[in-house]
Amino acid sequence: MQSFDDIEFRLLMEKPEGGGATLFWRPHDSSLIFADGRLPDLGRIHLGYADRFLGHRPAVAVGRGHPVAKTRDLRRIKIMLGKTCNYSCGYCSQSEHRATVGGSPAEVERFLDSMPGWFDGGEDGLGRGVRFEIWGGEPFVYWKTLRRLVPGLRTRYPNLSELFMFTNGSLLDMNKVAWLDEMGFFLAVSHDGPGQADRGPDPFDHPVAGPALRELIRRFHPQRRLSFNFMVTARNYEVAAIRRWFVAKTGIADITVATGEFLTPYDPGSLLFSPTGEAEHRAIGRVLARDFTDWDGLALPTVHQKITGFFTALASHRPSESLWQKCGMDTPRTIAVDLMGNVATCHNVAAGLCRRARRHGDPAHPGDLAPHLHRTDPGGARPRRADRPAGNRGAA
Ligand code: SF4
Repeated sequence: MQSFDDIEFRLLMEKPEGGGATLFWRPHDSSLIFADGRLPDLGRIHLGYADRFLGHRPAVAVGRGHPVAKTRDLRRIKIMLGKTCNYSCGYCSQSEHRATVGGSPAEVERFLDSMPGWFDGGEDGLGRGVRFEIWGGEPFVYWKTLRRLVPGLRTRYPNLSELFMFTNGSLLDMNKVAWLDEMGFFLAVSHDGPGQADRGPDPFDHPVAGPALRELIRRFHPQRRLSFNFMVTARNYEVAAIRRWFVAKTGIADITVATGEFLTPYDPGSLLFSPTGEAEHRAIGRVLARDFTDWDGLALPTVHQKITGFFTALASHRPSESLWQKCGMDTPRTIAVDLMGNVATCHNVAAGLCRRARRHGDPAHPGDLAPHLHRTDPGGARPRRADRPAGNRGAA
């Protein structure tokens, strides 16, 4: 059987005017060579080949059976409120984990009080160098919890470096926007642009959320604290046109639009959003290749970073085994924790196992963690019903 190390792609490059070349690409060792053995000239993009890969640090495979131990000097803390959402996107990776809870407003104080037991407080004990992320479901479904949690974090860690949250934007109102601004959030609004109908109602069209979104843009965009993020699916893949949709909708030429990349199917629901065969794969691939050379396609940070990353990998001979997870969950200094002190390997799905969490013996040493879920707070309460959804949930 062919091993991963042996995988080699043959790239047939065709010029519009005729002619072309064949290249061989090996992702395992980031090598790209012409059929005659020449290396592509990277000098044209101001790069040169290194003699060897420097700073090699093999990635650790993390999963339910292979958790990574966490340390006290955490620098990225993902707080999981719960998986409840007022939308039901067909491709949502959390759809099988809805009936879980991550804590209630009543748990907030206990959670905040427990933090010094498993977190050193950052570079200065007051949050410097630490990024806090708030994760749902849809975080505004947990509005009562948020209103207690975030000011509490700000009070205890006033020097925190970044406060980040994803939202679908549908439960926003003017008061929440003012609160988000006051708390100093960086926000990513999940919205599929022209493909939003596959996700749910368009919050831009909602009588409450629409004006609130525009106010959010007015306040946050000038400070670069806001992005719109869309999923690329077999039903919504013209990435340059999607970016232009956001420019037209907001009236802002440099609005930040990012993409969660092409959807990877993992269940029957998400398969509906995936190409069904060779012909559809090729057709979508042609459109993506066209858009990746279009200004609006290149303006997507994800596309730009992928292209830059590809050439940097070639120049540095980066081996695939040095690739770490983008989410950071495979590193000891990134943790995903719910309000009851349950630590999860993945902030998107693992909180569904909260009820199976076992008590951790010593809350002062979360670095001892071995199995994939633990309690960091030995005084934690039993899981309870999640915070009730905010009032305009049904209309979103
Ligand atoms: S808005 Fe986000 S969390 Fe809610 S169903 Fe859609 S993808 Fe899932």
